[in-house]
Amino acid sequence: MSRAEQPSVLIVEDEPAQREVLAYNLTAEGFDVSQAENGEEALLLVNEAQPDVIVLDWMLPNVSGIEVCRRLKSNAKTRGVPIIMLSARAEEVDRVRGLETGADDYVVKPYSVVELMARVRSQLRRSRPASVGERLEYADIVLDSETHKVTRGEHPLKLGPTEFRLLSAFMEKPGRVWSREQLLDRVWGRDIYVDTRTVDVHIGRLRKVLCEHGGDDPVRTVRGAGYALG
Ligand code: CA
Repeated sequence: MSRAEQPSVLIVEDEPAQREVLAYNLTAEGFDVSQAENGEEALLLVNEAQPDVIVLDWMLPNVSGIEVCRRLKSNAKTRGVPIIMLSARAEEVDRVRGLETGADDYVVKPYSVVELMARVRSQLRRSRPASVGERLEYADIVLDSETHKVTRGEHPLKLGPTEFRLLSAFMEKPGRVWSREQLLDRVWGRDIYVDTRTVDVHIGRLRKVLCEHGGDDPVRTVRGAGYALG
């Protein structure tokens, strides 16, 4: 799996030992892991590149986990990123819930790594369904991310790996407008330099395959913004 395909997780935890255990396990599970040791750093990182899931500790110096959560959930740009809050005591979890910070899930320390992985995966099923092998459907197009098979109506389609990743991104969020830069980050990976015109070339190829047995072009060009499915 290339880095661009790996689901990304941001760990926000000030205790190095706990952060390392989490990073180790999530990396072993195939996640692209980034780490922040405090709330300020976490907010900066999320602003730079949105992870698919955030594991956020409640007890952090200065800006608390709750405050980080509240800020991310009140910003339209970051609201959709699932957040799993970690806390040392069950009573804290009750308080987080009561505070309505908008966290998507809560885990009490000490937690089992197996349980936390299951929680992360469950959040991914919503935010990045293709990354956990879900079958995606849009109109008459079906994409099976486990077998990498795509069909439109009755016809199996042969997509190149880049076109497959483009279509997965589109089908995870039909209607979402992706800028060329966002598609580059998602499909090619953050660290690879590719000209934005390359995106147009691969969109062209994707369209050609999607329409080779007829049917409308489902990929919409949004002038001045990028591309969207439907
Ligand atoms: Ca902590």
